[in-house]
Amino acid sequence: MKYISTRGQSPAQSFSEILLGGLAPDGGLYLPESYPQFGDDELSEMRSMNYRDLAFAILQRLVTDIPAADLRTIIDKAYTPEVFCHARVSTDATDITPLLTLEPGLHLLCLSNGPTIAFKDMAMQLLGHLFEYVLAKTGRHINILGATSGDTGSAAEYAMRGKQAVNVFMLSPHEKMSRFQTAQMFSLQDENIHNIAVRGVFDDCQDMVKAVSNDHAFKHANHIGAVNSINWGRIAAQVIYYFKGYLAATKSNEQQVSFCVPSGNFGNICAGHIARMMGLPVKHLVVATNENDVLDEFFRTGVYRPRGSANTYHTSSPSMDISKASNFERFVYDLAGQDGAQVKELWQAVDQGGAFDLNASGLFARVKDFGFQSGSSSHAERMATIRNTWGQHQIMIDTHTADGLKVAQERREAGVPMLVLETALPAKFEDAMQEALQMSPDRPIGLEDIESLPQRFEVLDADVDAVKQLIVARTQ
Ligand SMILES: *Cc1c(COP(=O)(O)O)cnc(C)c1O
Repeated sequence: MKYISTRGQSPAQSFSEILLGGLAPDGGLYLPESYPQFGDDELSEMRSMNYRDLAFAILQRLVTDIPAADLRTIIDKAYTPEVFCHARVSTDATDITPLLTLEPGLHLLCLSNGPTIAFKDMAMQLLGHLFEYVLAKTGRHINILGATSGDTGSAAEYAMRGKQAVNVFMLSPHEKMSRFQTAQMFSLQDENIHNIAVRGVFDDCQDMVKAVSNDHAFKHANHIGAVNSINWGRIAAQVIYYFKGYLAATKSNEQQVSFCVPSGNFGNICAGHIARMMGLPVKHLVVATNENDVLDEFFRTGVYRPRGSANTYHTSSPSMDISKASNFERFVYDLAGQDGAQVKELWQAVDQGGAFDLNASGLFARVKDFGFQSGSSSHAERMATIRNTWGQHQIMIDTHTADGLKVAQERREAGVPMLVLETALPAKFEDAMQEALQMSPDRPIGLEDIESLPQRFEVLDADVDAVKQLIVARTQ
């Protein structure tokens, strides 16, 4: 299996070759040159598989340049009940992604049982082992530089902690993350994890990462890499739980299900789209956004109009506060019939701060063939959904999952199970849960006193040279 760029002008590469990089050289995103197909027989075989078997069955068709036995070992190390141990009491952690039924036909697919109690662990944990393996094979090392406002940074650090040939330098805005999120990251004592608290806001952190990445000489000399949301390995890992969710919610391959996905950068739901392209019987893929509704606007109108960071709202589902959806280009490539030249033209407008409209070209009319629907949720609706879910089911859901459930309820159809992807546990967003329910969510076992653990971090000014000096000093 080779990987090609959505802009059609980069040479085809193998999985291992694109794993450590970000964008393709032509500025596009990598996708497999064709989607492997899983038919009736394969789906039937999958019905008796556990998460690791299923992950292997799918990934061996996407990762053809790592020997099968090695890939199997990597998967077995990544998806263990010990790592994904924070299940709700009402579900079973040995399932890795258990299905929790709210009422007949409406389910939560629980993806937040990993170390940082958010779905990003599902992909990051695999990525950590894949990075270590590929780096060892090629005798290279990497210094991952990232910016975080909470979820991505902690998932990356827990995945990369203690890994050979990997250092992580994670910038976060000083004293602006929640106490829980700060404690999660800063309590890591691993030598290869470097927490950098920047005197500034998240945008300052992100600008510093961009500035370092644009200094090609520095980047090359210091082996700077990233684990951002466009990484193909992350998308590939996320395809697995769509299959797992489908198989858990159905008894025969004749049945269809729909998924509703709390969305920001379009990474999670892009994996759902790919699962559907691989033959998974999915009726609808429902995009749920918060007040930052750039994606909902597209699926309602055919116009994609990124907002710019000055026009991005800070909401109570903060991990979905995005101005543009980095992975959306992957879907548009398929929508355009794998026409890289057309995608290149569309993103020329976007990259210059503009928008595009797919009505005139007829592409928007094709969106329904891909099963997409959408909806959005406001703060008041999010709070009401959390309260209703607690009142009716005695189940506490976090603010992001609440956005998904709100939209899912609008889009449910008789006879088609609706699976809402649970993207974080409520313990991660205590203030919002207090506001909704006037009580604090339970802390998963082992995380009760995380704020009292010793913390390890350095404070820096929002100064690119200071970050560069720190990276050099810590890696020499
Ligand atoms: C990252 C994140 C999302 C958004 O996922 P995308 O892949 O960016 O669409 C939703 N909810 C939570 C809790 C997240 O951390």
